[in-house]
Amino acid sequence: MTGLRFECQPGCTNCCRQKGFVYITEDDLARMAKFVGMRPRDFERRYVYRTRHLLRLRMPRHSQCHFLREDGCSIHPAKPTQCRIFPFWPELVDSKREWQNAAAWCPGIGKGKLIQIESARGQAEEMRAAYPGMYR
Ligand code: SF4
Ligand code: SF4
Repeated sequence: MTGLRFECQPGCTNCCRQKGFVYITEDDLARMAKFVGMRPRDFERRYVYRTRHLLRLRMPRHSQCHFLREDGCSIHPAKPTQCRIFPFWPELVDSKREWQNAAAWCPGIGKGKLIQIESARGQAEEMRAAYPGMYR
């Protein structure tokens, strides 16, 4: 494999509507809190669920991410690392099958310019480093 094609499609928010949790880093928490004008402590109390090894956004019951609006992510410039790096997550970059499975709901996969595999793996590494609790 020499590379992967990807270009996020305007108006699409499919990745924000998938089942699963949005994990965040300590830096993400501080950045997101600042972006919405809250103290990190208050932001965490309201939006974050903390376990021993992981932080994740609380999901409203029967709903999607707190920050998803009709026109997209309301905290886009400060969004969590996992959201920013998608679809170059290790589990997708390392598996042709998983990459193709994700293409079933991410219309940006397979479109746009070719991203060199080294670059894609570099982003996957950033993801691994950001979430050591997930990729041990
Ligand atoms: S699902 Fe894919 S194309 Fe749609 S917003 Fe997410 S990354 Fe972009
Ligand atoms: S934080 Fe933003 S990009 Fe991430 S799931 Fe929520 S709405 Fe989508």
